[in-house]
Amino acid sequence: RKEYGIEDALKKLGITKTNKGTSTGSEWMESAHSISSFSPVDGTEIASVGITENKDYEKVIEKAQTAFKFWANLPAPNRGEIVRQFSQKLREMKDPLGRLVSYEMGKSLQEGWGEVQEMIDICDFAVGLSRQLHGLTIKSERPEHHMQEQWHPLGITGIISAFNFPVAVWSWNTALAWVAGDVCVWKPSEKTPLTGVACQNLIAEVLKENKMPEGISCLINGDYKVGEWMTHDERIPLISATGSIRMGKIVGQAVAARLGKSILELGGNNAMIITPDADLKISLIGSVFGAVGTAGQRCTSTRRLIVHEDIYNDLTEKIKGAYSQLRIGNPLDEKNHVGPLIDKDAVNAYENAIEKAKSLGGKVIVEGGVLSGEGYESGCYVKPAIIEVENSYSIVQEETFAPILYVIKYKGGVENAIAIQNSVKQGLSSAIMTNNVREAHKFLSGAGSDCGIANVNIGTSGAEIGGAFGGEKETGGGRESGSDAWKAYMRRQTNTLNYGDSLPLAQGIKFDL
Ligand code: NAD
Repeated sequence: RKEYGIEDALKKLGITKTNKGTSTGSEWMESAHSISSFSPVDGTEIASVGITENKDYEKVIEKAQTAFKFWANLPAPNRGEIVRQFSQKLREMKDPLGRLVSYEMGKSLQEGWGEVQEMIDICDFAVGLSRQLHGLTIKSERPEHHMQEQWHPLGITGIISAFNFPVAVWSWNTALAWVAGDVCVWKPSEKTPLTGVACQNLIAEVLKENKMPEGISCLINGDYKVGEWMTHDERIPLISATGSIRMGKIVGQAVAARLGKSILELGGNNAMIITPDADLKISLIGSVFGAVGTAGQRCTSTRRLIVHEDIYNDLTEKIKGAYSQLRIGNPLDEKNHVGPLIDKDAVNAYENAIEKAKSLGGKVIVEGGVLSGEGYESGCYVKPAIIEVENSYSIVQEETFAPILYVIKYKGGVENAIAIQNSVKQGLSSAIMTNNVREAHKFLSGAGSDCGIANVNIGTSGAEIGGAFGGEKETGGGRESGSDAWKAYMRRQTNTLNYGDSLPLAQGIKFDL
């Protein structure tokens, strides 16, 4: 830990051996029970975080409701200024926070830093947005009337996040919600609670320096039961939930039952199509990074490669060669390409998926397996595997959050590959590798990819914050981050103003007294 600067990072981020887990900003509450956070890197317990008690949850929501009255009335550019200062804090703390993300979640240090950079980027985006929360003006059918649309703050945004992007997903939501005038209550994943405490410490400093009230940024901790308090709570108009489809179905229904709003960012089953006109060099890098980056634990990881029969043997041989070069080990050591899975449950899911694919007739191209021995003591390190399959296999239809790449052969035109790609229930990210302009346009057309993200000559993972992020079908339909995703954090109001001295009714209706 010392060698990789973890002790120092924990100290800088205000993480101690035992941490409180419930906060309204600078105020923290005690808990009777706690979650232990174990690092998948070396299997050791890093520290513990208190689980929120229901009575304290009530206090948090009350504080947030009070803070909302203040925050929503602050001019939006002033809220943007707080977000700007937060991005400055993140710049100063990029190294320690990136290290903690890497150590607690298991992604490479480069990706840990990258995640913090994503937080900085969304803050910068939100600062500009704070002067651009604009509506439309609309021509009225009535004389001397004017119509306009305004966007107003909603209230409390409840954020439920997954382990794999433990800090970026929070910032995608909070940066936009804050400039929109909402206050936030965050429940991080119970697998990565320390990064949550670290982020709360950083934003609390900024809020305190600006003499802001408690309740603008709140943190609660625990498993799904604590999450359920939020999803059933009518005081929270918007729930943004990131995680598995299983979770999204429960959360979506709970929020809908009380007619609340939800943003659902759920699992994917992302495919890359490689056509005979593809540049094989970039196809190779794109597919290998997409499948093994973050040990296959990105929602946008490449799960399926759909390869034309004419280039199938050549490409699979090249990928096999690339896989033999992969170095698996401590993600804080920059020479390694692949780090651990998050925990032993994830390792079991990986093993079961490989067994299932084989039992259904899958042909192993690169053998998987769990690693043991020196450096692999946590039991969470696995070998990236490649299996030739049919798209119809039940296991191929599911998202397994691990580095397993399924390869599927297609024949004929690109429309056959697109049909295979779309024949799954999820619809997050997709990509085509081709230099053929017709194939590329067909893929991006309405008859092409049915995913929220569709890329040409780029892999399925690694989105930029400027675009709206999210997917269709069982991926949940939510959009976060760039473009006009901010609208989901606000309520739309249509105004009609009469500046004349009579009262003409719409649709020409006459009503004379
Ligand atoms: P998970 O569904 O197990 O947990 C996610 C969060 O939901 C956690 O905070 C958990 O405590 C909470 N939760 C679970 N059940 C709940 C319930 N009934 N009510 C309220 N809260 C509940 O997911 P995970 O294993 O942490 O993350 C991996 C999954 O997340 C993958 O499926 C991945 O594709 C998905 N993901 C999607 C995106 C996206 O933007 N589409 C981004 C990152 C991760």
